[in-house]
Amino acid sequence: MTCEEIRLLIHEAQDDGGVGALPELASRHLATCGACREFRDDLESLSHALRALPRVPLPEDALDAVWRETIRARPVRLTANAGFWRLAAAASFVAALSTATLYFVFAPAPPPGPSAVELARASAQAEMVFGYTARALAATRAATTDRILASKVSPAVRNANSHPSRRP
Ligand SMILES: [Zn+2]
Repeated sequence: MTCEEIRLLIHEAQDDGGVGALPELASRHLATCGACREFRDDLESLSHALRALPRVPLPEDALDAVWRETIRARPVRLTANAGFWRLAAAASFVAALSTATLYFVFAPAPPPGPSAVELARASAQAEMVFGYTARALAATRAATTDRILASKVSPAVRNANSHPSRRP
């Protein structure tokens, strides 16, 4: 088996949440391949780091607020007064009133479509969702950096600091 195939198995074992679920073949490979061992260690380290992350619950009302104002929102009733408008228009001819005046008073609703206010609200909601996502991603990245890089870099740094006499 190639290293690539072994690493696929390591991934699968990690996905199952179990270490030690590796097939015998993979375990034998790990015993002889340092690169794949390192790969497995990194993956385990990352896995532990992610599980150890504090769970920051989404503010309880956040998702609800987004749903309430998007998916569950009822469309604005734009045509409710159309019948009334027609009556008013007919009356306007009878009364010989200025149609221009009536137009401004009883103007039918504009065709359906997001208004500037609705667009701004949707944009704010999207930004809120992206904000939560970005914070979660940042936490994940921080954990990855802390665990993986620190485990590789800081031992070297620590060794250098604790044994200054060894330096040339
Ligand atoms: Zn290998």
